[in-house]
Order: sequence, then structure tokens, then C-alpha cells
Amino acid sequence: MRIIISAPDFRDGEADATRGLPDQPLFQSQHPSDVSNINLDLFKDQYYRDLVARRLSGAVQIPTVIADGIGEVGKDPRWGIFHSFTQYLRKTFPILHDRLSLEVINQHALLYTWQGSNPKLKPLLFMAHSDVVSAPESTLERWTYPPFSGHYDGEYIWGRGSEDDKSNLIAILSAIDALIHCDFTPTRTVLVSIGFDEEGGLDQSNGARYLAERILETYGEDGIELIFDEGIAGIEEHFGTEFALPATAEKGYLDVQITIDTTGGHSSTPPDHTCIGYLAQAINAIEASPFTSRLTNKNPTTVYLKIAALHSKNMPLSLRKAILDPSSSNEVLNYMDSSLERRALVRTSTAVDIMRGGEQFLANALPETAYAVVNHRIAVEDSIQVLKDYYIRILSPLTKKWGFSLIAFGNDINNSCDSVGTVTLAGHYELEPSPVSNHRDVRFTWLADTLQAVFGKDVCVAPVLLTGKFMFRPSEDPAAY
Ligand SMILES: [Zn+2]
Repeated sequence: MRIIISAPDFRDGEADATRGLPDQPLFQSQHPSDVSNINLDLFKDQYYRDLVARRLSGAVQIPTVIADGIGEVGKDPRWGIFHSFTQYLRKTFPILHDRLSLEVINQHALLYTWQGSNPKLKPLLFMAHSDVVSAPESTLERWTYPPFSGHYDGEYIWGRGSEDDKSNLIAILSAIDALIHCDFTPTRTVLVSIGFDEEGGLDQSNGARYLAERILETYGEDGIELIFDEGIAGIEEHFGTEFALPATAEKGYLDVQITIDTTGGHSSTPPDHTCIGYLAQAINAIEASPFTSRLTNKNPTTVYLKIAALHSKNMPLSLRKAILDPSSSNEVLNYMDSSLERRALVRTSTAVDIMRGGEQFLANALPETAYAVVNHRIAVEDSIQVLKDYYIRILSPLTKKWGFSLIAFGNDINNSCDSVGTVTLAGHYELEPSPVSNHRDVRFTWLADTLQAVFGKDVCVAPVLLTGKFMFRPSEDPAAY
């Protein structure tokens, strides 16, 4: 789960991100009301579990894949499958569709409104998406059960979207449906927003963008109390202890394209380096200067580690001590750096993913242009600008040495009329790291309370950072839940 709280973000240098954390169970639940008790019993009931599993299975069986090169929504018939999906939801949750209002936006984006009794309170917003990535023909034999079988083996549901993200979608609607059956009416309005093209591949969003515009139009800037979106699914076991891990921040994103242009010529009389050789040197310089790992109070990973050290059952003693001892930060960083997954949580990552240059089957001619694309997931302490400055710092001395011009992100850095080549840097898909939601905010406690009431008080709740593209955020008014 990813949760967005619109509230002041953490500031760099804040004394201690874990200050004020109570002992685990971190957040004491209130006595559950009658409705909660009925629902908690329901969730343990095998019949109900099977019912929700069948709902998810049915959703997985509808292949809501966005085809390659698909045209405009409403014109390309391949979008038609999403009508079937909306119909499926109407058929599966008839009472919910009776009670909640549903606005269909841009043909397939769904915005449900469950009106709260107190219109002065800002709504809660739950988000999910109905599309899934494709399952290419060539991979079909590697599937244990076909990707759109929705096979339910009594424990798992198999197929595309069974986790990402139809599980969220069906869980949200099932929870509301269960509450309606208890005659529950929320005090605060609840919105459910379902996009249909989250998995990408399109130039711009046809779903979430329209939903966001509509929500903004209705509720205004900062008009939502809390946003819940997809993130880490389910309960995970870490150090012999069950953890629920709502993400309170997400790394940023940037692709940097490095293009090197040189004059061509014949391969029989080559210079020492072609543009491909120069590009290799540039890549080598970037890989030789990785971003450093650090654990600051801005990064939710710091809080997660502290909670794990204080409350997990089987953390090795040396690690536990290192995390709890402020003078042992290097040991903690060594631990984080010792796995690729953990390392990605404490630094801006660098991955040289694409390289092209020269003409195929034309080894006689010197290549005139070559480029590489380097993907970065940006740490919460860094920014797009930090990355751009980094590239200039690394590549400026090289281009001077080569006698090349450097055009970095639209600016001439080294430019002389007698340069013999050009290095051009361009940024694509720029996305700053998300703001960091405050785990000490009372609204994080609402969520933690709920998690512990459902999954038990032995479950540790800790905020985490998402390294992919997926987070918890409150607004200003921490009024009644
Ligand atoms: Zn997803």
C-alpha cells in the first residue's frame, strides 16, 4: 500500500525521525466498534474468503491488456474489453453500485463516491487500476496456469493482475460492500478512483489524469484528507516478524540520453576514437562515480530500520546494535549496500540500459553518432537538478579533454567553434522524488490502528520507501476518521 498524506514534509537535518515513536505495538487500537467486529469475523470466514477470491478470479479472467500501438480511447475497438470489466464490477457488486454514485470518465475511468454524513470533512481517496501488462504468446508455456485463467487453488489466484492491481481494486470494493451490508455510513466521504492505463506504454494517461482533474475540480487544491494507492502488497516477514509496510515516499525518475556526434570518415584511416569509443569512455566515467549511499531522517527506511531493530524477533544482534547506535552508521550502510534491493533504498541508482551507434553491416564507415540512455531512480534527498549537475561535473572535464562541445539539458556548457565533436545530454520522463509523508502524523496512526486491528497486534507497522514507481500522504485537517 502506498499512502499520501498532504502535510509538511520532513526537512533535511531533522533531529531524529524516530523521535516520538511509541513501543510496539506501535499504535494502540481503539476498541473496535460493532461494525468492525462483524467485519473482522467475516474476513476470517472461509466462505467469505472464497467469495472474495472468486471475485478476484473473475476480474483476472477479463484480459484488460492495453495492446501495443492502441489508438484513441473510444475509437480503437481494442479498448472495448474495459467496458466488459466495468460491467463485471456492476454485476459483482450490485448493492455497492446502488449505494455509491459512479461517474465514468473518458469511457473507462471509474470514480465512485460514497457520500459521508459530514460534508465538512475532506474525503479519503482509494486508488487502483484495472489494466494489466500483456502476456506475450512466446511466454505462455512458462505460466503454471494461463495468464487469464484466474485459477484459484484454494490459496492463491493465478494470473495477470491477480496482484497488480486487481487485488487492490477488488479488496477496496469488497471492503465497502461488506460495510454496506452492516448498514454502515461513513462520516467522511470515501472516493474510489480506478484508472485503466497505469501500466504505461502510452504517451499520456487516459485514466488517472482525467480522474485527477475531476477530483481537483470537485474538491479543490488540498481537498483530500488521505490518498491510498498501490504499493507493497500484503504482510511481509522480516527478521522472523510480520510487518505491514505502508510506503510514505517514492523515489523519483530520470532517463538521461547521452548523444555523441563526431565527423564520419573511412574506417581505413580512423582517428584514435570513434563516437562509440567516446561514448564508452563517458559511460565508464559515470559507472565509476556512483551516487553514494546515505541514510538520512528524510528516508523512511531509517524509521523502518529502527522499528525493526526495536521490535523484530530475529534480527542479528550486531545489526540490531548498529542500527540503535548512532555512531555505527557505517555498519548500517554496509548492511544496506550488501544487497541490490537494500542498496536501492539508500541511494540514487544508475543503470545504463540502452546503447546504439553506427550503421548495421557498415563496418567500412566511421559512425557519426552514438547514444546511450541511463536510467536513474532518484533518492528522496536528491532531485532532477542534482542529477543534471552530476552529469555536467562528470562529463565537462572529459569533453574539454576531447575538444568537444557539451550541450547539457539545453544549455551550452563548453562550446567552441573549433570543437571536433559534440556531447548532448537530454533528460526524459523527469519525475522528482515524492514528498515524504510524515509517519508521526495522526493519520498514519489511523492506518496503523486499522492494520493492527485486522492483522493482530503482533504485526509491526513501519513506513517504507518505494524504489519503483509507486506511497501515504495527510492534508491539513486531522479531523474525525
Ligand atoms: Zn500497478
